[in-house]
Amino acid sequence: MVAQLHLADLVVPIVGEPIPDGGVLVSDGVIAAVGDASRLAEQFPAASIARWPGLLTAGLVNAHAHLQYTSFSDVGAQAYETYTDWSIRFVEEYDKRVHDDWTASARQGAQQMVANGITAIGDIVTNFECRDVLLDLEIPGVAYLELIGVDLENWASGLEKELRTAVELAPTSAVNTVGISPHAPYSIDAPVLTLMADLARELNVRLHIHVAESDGEEELYRTGTGSLADRLRIVATRRVAVLEDGGFGLGTGAFVQSLGVLGPTCHIAHGVYLAEEGRAIMAAETTFVALCPRSNHIVGVDYPPVADFLTENIPIAVGTDSLSSSTSLDLLEDVALLRRLAIEGGYSDSDLDARLLHAATMGGAAALGLACHLGSLEVGKRADLAVFDVASISELVTSGAGKCTATIIAGKIRHPL
Ligand SMILES: [Zn+2]
Repeated sequence: MVAQLHLADLVVPIVGEPIPDGGVLVSDGVIAAVGDASRLAEQFPAASIARWPGLLTAGLVNAHAHLQYTSFSDVGAQAYETYTDWSIRFVEEYDKRVHDDWTASARQGAQQMVANGITAIGDIVTNFECRDVLLDLEIPGVAYLELIGVDLENWASGLEKELRTAVELAPTSAVNTVGISPHAPYSIDAPVLTLMADLARELNVRLHIHVAESDGEEELYRTGTGSLADRLRIVATRRVAVLEDGGFGLGTGAFVQSLGVLGPTCHIAHGVYLAEEGRAIMAAETTFVALCPRSNHIVGVDYPPVADFLTENIPIAVGTDSLSSSTSLDLLEDVALLRRLAIEGGYSDSDLDARLLHAATMGGAAALGLACHLGSLEVGKRADLAVFDVASISELVTSGAGKCTATIIAGKIRHPL
């Protein structure tokens, strides 16, 4: 197979310095060389050349998505007053869609992401029929099989077997794996959360969970009271230990840690209300936090304290969440918002743009356990590339949304087709 040389005005390897008039040599879907354009052209005269205007970098990694809800854009088209308001609207919509073609919706979402320069996805799969969508589309990622509203009895009387079987039977590859996702610490009974984490370790798969997304969580785990506790009392059809026991006396991060859920093979979504104690726990556990600020706004909660995440060196990635809580599947919209929030929060270091781009590429790759395969332009990694019509990293981070002009996955041009 003839090697291809992708040249661009600016090549940003993520790991290493940006290269003006740079190039990436691709052979058999893998990066064979990265460097100065004219030197590469001279060294590899037989390579076919593609010359891209703008900035070429590693494909973006969306560390938190629910592809199956791409058809829920009506739900996410406006912001809600409170998280409870959003939850009620979401559940109302979900209940109407029992017979939806979830796979078709998921495929549409994945295609939209590819058109925005995303080349790897952490996808939460609530309806297991969507499990193989990424693998089928040849888009790297982890399909996290989600359980929600589970107590020990449900777990023991069939759900454990169903989950175990879905994981064990999943077709996988080096860059397409399945994981396990307990929805949130308040929607799964505590003993089941620990059993799900144990199962993930036993099957050697990754874990992902929503944590500290709403402001009611901290109060719920500490004292069994607050807005989330009130909502749980209304919707619970089972005994909820955290309510009856008056909480567990632990903050959100410490509570999740006590269940054995965290660690380097787990990443969490949101982390808005972790507080300093919870963020320090994530750093100590090497548990990445996928920040999804646009989603936080739509569901009626606060923005994450981005400046704190950066100054405290908490491992972060970026996610769009789904169209049920966002207006597009363009990760650079979230990156631009994170930038604004970081500055508003007082972060003034000159490395801001580079750190946010790192979070949206290498950060996501690490969160999904794929950092040895993708997330940066390094020899031996997959040729998962994205080209944007911008002149600098700063422009990409500030206003790169909607400016993806080409997406290449394993050396194949996937956008535009
Ligand atoms: Zn989510």
